[in-house]
Amino acid sequence: MKKQSFETLAVHAGRDDLRDLGVHALPLDLSTTNPMPDPEAGGEALGRMAMGGTPDGGSAVYARLHNPTVARFEHALAKLEGADAAVAFSSGMAGLTALLMAARQQGGHMVAVRPMYGSSDHLINCGLLGLEVTWCAADEIGANLRPDTSLVYIETPANPTVQLLDVEAVVRQAKGIPVAVDSTFATPVLLRPLELGATFALHSATKFLGGHGDVIAGVIATNDEWAARLRHLRVITGALLHPLGAYLLHRGLQTLPVRVKTAQAGAQVIARRLAEHPRVAKTFYPGLPGGDPAGVLGRQQKGPGALISFEVKGGYQEACSVLRKVKLANAAVSLGSVDTLIQHPASMTHRVVDAEEKRKAGVTDSLVRLSVGLEDPDDIWADLAQALEG
Ligand SMILES: *Cc1c(COP(=O)(O)O)cnc(C)c1O
Repeated sequence: MKKQSFETLAVHAGRDDLRDLGVHALPLDLSTTNPMPDPEAGGEALGRMAMGGTPDGGSAVYARLHNPTVARFEHALAKLEGADAAVAFSSGMAGLTALLMAARQQGGHMVAVRPMYGSSDHLINCGLLGLEVTWCAADEIGANLRPDTSLVYIETPANPTVQLLDVEAVVRQAKGIPVAVDSTFATPVLLRPLELGATFALHSATKFLGGHGDVIAGVIATNDEWAARLRHLRVITGALLHPLGAYLLHRGLQTLPVRVKTAQAGAQVIARRLAEHPRVAKTFYPGLPGGDPAGVLGRQQKGPGALISFEVKGGYQEACSVLRKVKLANAAVSLGSVDTLIQHPASMTHRVVDAEEKRKAGVTDSLVRLSVGLEDPDDIWADLAQALEG
C-alpha cells in the first residue's frame, strides 16, 4: 500500500488494534496500578521502565511508569511528526523542563534564539536547571557553540511575533548538536522539524493539538534514544499526562488538519484586512508580503498558520482597549482553540521577560496577538473592526 497521507494518518494513527479489540472509540485506561502476578517478570518490567524503557508486553506496573492510553497518543503523535517516538507530559513547560534536564546530562551549555514563549524564556534564562544559556540571533548559532554545548533551542513560528526561522539552516550551524524546535504554533500539519534534521519537536499540546481549551499537556517527538531519557526523567519527576488528557488529545488529532487549515484560511483574510486598517500600525503574519524574510514558506513550512500579531496605533492603553472591546473574540491567553483568542503580550504572556530583551525581540507595548479560530472570518473581522474603531 502507498504511504498514507498526513490527513489519513491523523484519523487512524494509534488505532490499528481497535478493530481486533471490537471497539470504535479509544479505550481509556485509568488504572494507577496494574496486576503483576509473577513478581519476577513484573519486577523486570518495573526495572526496565524505571530507566525509561517500555513494558514490551509485560505489566504496565504503575501508571507513573507507563499508561496505555498515554502511550497510544504518543504513538499517534510520533507518526504525525515522522519520529521514532514521542513522550507526553503534564504541560508544555513540564516537557521543556525534562528536555533541559536531559540536555544538562550531556553538557552544561545551550544556545537559544529569542523571541519565544514568555515562560520558556523565563525557565531557560533563570538557570534553575543548571544549563547556562547563550542567547543569540538565528544566524549566530554556529559562532556561539562551545565544547559543552548540548542543545540548540528555537521556536518557529516564534511567539508572539510569528517570525519564521529556517530550521535546516539552524541544523547546519549546530554541527550535530541536537536542535529542539518548539513548533506549537505550526503543528505537524504545517511543519515537521524532524524531517528537516531537528532532534526534537516540542508542543504545548494545550494549544492546537487539544484544540478545545480543555487539556493542559506537552509532548516531545524525538528518536528512541532521547525518548528513553525523557521517559526516565518523567518517571522520576512524575510530570505525567493524565490518561483522560491523552484521550482527549488523541481524539483531537483526528480533526487537527481540518482545524489548522480552516483557521489558517480565516487568518489569511483577517491579516490582509488588519494590514489595511488605519488604526493598525503594523501587522505581523508570514502570509503577508514581506512576512517571511527567511523564505521558508512552501520550502519547510506548509502554510502561514493561524496566529497574527499587530501593533495598534498609540501604545499600551490603545492595545488594551482593543481587548476590552472585543465581544466575539475571547480576551485570554493561550491559542490554537476552536474559538478566536486575543491577548496582549506586554501585559500578559511576556510580562516575565526582561524589558530590554522584549524591545529587541519586537515585543512592543502596542502589540496584540490574535489566534484565529474556526468562526466565519467575516464575523471575526466585524468584531475586531468595532473594537479598533471605538
Ligand atoms: C503555551 C506554550 C508553551 C507552554 O505550554 P503549557 O502547556 O502552557 O505549559 C510553550 N511554548 C509555546 C510556543 C506555547 O505557546
